[in-house]
Amino acid sequence: MPRPISATIHTDALRHNLARMRQAAPDARVWAIVKANAYGHGIERAFEGLRGADGFALLDLEEAQRVRALGWRGPVLLLEGVFELRDLELCSRLDLWHTVHCEEQIDMLATHKTNLPHRVFLKMNSGMNRLGFTPERYRAAWTRLNALPQVDEISLMTHFGDADGALGIAHQLAVFERVTRDLPGERTVSNSATTLRFSATATEADSADPSRVESDWVRPGIAVYGSSPDFPQHNAADWGLAPAMTLSAKIIGTQDLVAGSSVGYGSSFVADKPMRIGVVACGYADGYGRVCPTGTPVLVNGVRTRTVGRVSMDMLTVDLQPLLDTGVGAGFGSEVTLWGRASNGAVLSIDDVAQAAGTIGYELMCALAQRVPVSVLDADAI
Ligand SMILES: *Cc1c(COP(=O)(O)O)cnc(C)c1O
Repeated sequence: MPRPISATIHTDALRHNLARMRQAAPDARVWAIVKANAYGHGIERAFEGLRGADGFALLDLEEAQRVRALGWRGPVLLLEGVFELRDLELCSRLDLWHTVHCEEQIDMLATHKTNLPHRVFLKMNSGMNRLGFTPERYRAAWTRLNALPQVDEISLMTHFGDADGALGIAHQLAVFERVTRDLPGERTVSNSATTLRFSATATEADSADPSRVESDWVRPGIAVYGSSPDFPQHNAADWGLAPAMTLSAKIIGTQDLVAGSSVGYGSSFVADKPMRIGVVACGYADGYGRVCPTGTPVLVNGVRTRTVGRVSMDMLTVDLQPLLDTGVGAGFGSEVTLWGRASNGAVLSIDDVAQAAGTIGYELMCALAQRVPVSVLDADAI
């Protein structure tokens, strides 16, 4: 018997979330962001649920090849563009669109030999100070690109650093709009948070920032996977999103604690009264972070309880007492849902788990470990 732990990718949830993003930005085309191996879901496993997207956007050339190998003939965008000259050959061969965010990438394009001119996305650093040309240098970069025979269409792009927070997008949007106002080309500015909070369909309840933005292409990642981009201000259910990944395991042992006895490495949890705990076949080597402290929410037999003690490499421990007290019962072999959907339909959002661990859903889903067997489920109720 393999260890009783597995992950499930919910194709229906991916479809549903993608439809939700279309509804939020009805006039835009939608890139499904599948970087980091589809946020840990697996590009091949997520593909069926996401094939209704207008394009796939990612960072890694090897992942772009995998999207093409799945038979996808539509747009594929490299969000960081190329890293070296020979990457451009692959762009020509696989017809990849690519971001251009620095002079070095224009230099490479200028020396690239190709019969097929490339579609590029010129990225502005509108204030986040990660990738992109500053507003002062943006138009010169556009002019330089526009003069290259290697370049076909130029689209305009920026990325917001505070779309999910109090600062909002107004300060960056104003810069982007001022500089690009009279430039031709399609625009793409919206990640998940921007798409949900600042598209034309957004309401005042979505964000205090009155900015509204039209994107020709929106770029949702996290929302497509069913996690809220601005948790805890809104949770996934508020946005109508369904979890696309379930991580579940089973109880492989139980212990009865007397008051004063401790659990696990470092004896970090000490029982203050008699209680039963369950030992779960899931640890940090499966991707369940050791940063998850006592009190992290978990479902046992679909009922919410908490972890107790430190997460170890292959196991963690959960409080079974609430299930015993309410007569639900739990013991050896009981289903444990670390995040996602339990057999009884109960949902534990990855965002709740991430919050307890002081991180975000993105990090947890991306960290799902190789050793966890994953299956794809097409037909579950949402
Ligand atoms: C990752 C990424 C996105 C998607 O962001 P989410 O917050 O997951 O929606 C969009 N645009 C760029 C440039 C990205 O790198």
